[in-house]
Amino acid sequence: MKAARLVSVGTMVLEEVARPVPGPGELLVRVLACGICGSDRHMFRGEYPTALPVTLGHEFCGTVEAVGEEVSRFSAGALVTGDPNIACGHCRYCRLGRPNLCDSLTAIGVFRDGGFADHLIVPQGQAVALPADLSPLHGAFCEPLACCLHGLDIARIGPGDSVAVLGGGVIGLLMVQLARLAGASTVVLSTRQQPRRALALELGATHAVDAARDEVDAAIAGARGIAPGGVDVVLECAGVAETFRQSLRIARRGGTVVIFGVMPKGEEVAVSPYDLLVKELRLESAWLNPLTHGRAAAMIASGVLELDRLITRTIGLDEVPAVIGAAPAFGGIKIVAVP
Ligand code: NAP
Repeated sequence: MKAARLVSVGTMVLEEVARPVPGPGELLVRVLACGICGSDRHMFRGEYPTALPVTLGHEFCGTVEAVGEEVSRFSAGALVTGDPNIACGHCRYCRLGRPNLCDSLTAIGVFRDGGFADHLIVPQGQAVALPADLSPLHGAFCEPLACCLHGLDIARIGPGDSVAVLGGGVIGLLMVQLARLAGASTVVLSTRQQPRRALALELGATHAVDAARDEVDAAIAGARGIAPGGVDVVLECAGVAETFRQSLRIARRGGTVVIFGVMPKGEEVAVSPYDLLVKELRLESAWLNPLTHGRAAAMIASGVLELDRLITRTIGLDEVPAVIGAAPAFGGIKIVAVP
């Protein structure tokens, strides 16, 4: 079978490899769709640790082709998504119900071979069934959506709240939809690319701010802004220093900031503890998808989210190395590989 493998930092190649054989408790899944995530580019550049060599791809959806011994919950032909993050289940954090913080967390598509291949192995406990008639392209959104749901749980958006989403990539555009579904009456997206702002308005944002040209602080939290005095909740989804600082400025006193975007390890941002203190901000962060993958699958199966508009390109496995090795194209949102 074919697999797009990271063989060393900065080198990804399409290789012919042996089709894996499912062991006890494992499923052999034929991949029908696998999304490309910004993290894949970080791994390509050596900015996240990975096994080497490894087949990348952690946003996968496919059909069960064969099952190993002791598999009781799935049979051949089932459409499944998989939670790529595998926790030990025994450590202090797993026992506290926080598997994303597990002492020995590992992940499919990072330390074990993932979904940029014709087939992959998924442990039964990581798999979640999807309706047979669901588009696999939609199924590939379960992983990023599951991460967003964790962020949303932490944000605790209430009916009538005002929410600012900073960064209009696929995550920001999912968050805009989720914030509206959570009952926010004002949802403003700040991002630089105009087509993303236009799309956000169609997906439920009530306002869009041009992060490149507008005075973002004034436009959102100024006396004549969208939410004078600041918004109830800021979802930082850009992962850059400027939006981190902006988040703290545009949240109202007593408001909530959830840091979701990933800044490069080691990068530091100057903040004023005094400003944080006197605003009594709830400064939170949300990491990965603890126990939210099943909810994400159910939400996608329900069809309540607009996903087709987020898919700007589908590619074959042969294009995966070049796409991951290149900077994201202007106007692109989500690229999905279809083996
Ligand atoms: P993305 O496509 O890179 O989206 C981030 C977008 O932020 C950029 O495309 C850019 O869009 C916008 N941006 C950059 N600078 C900005 C600024 N100064 N003001 C406003 N917007 C700005 O990535 P994504 O896939 O949507 O993911 C978003 C972030 O979440 C990434 O950092 C990703 O690593 C992270 N993430 C975190 C988790 C988690 O568990 N916490 C899970 C998945 C992803 P414009 O060009 O339109 O400005």
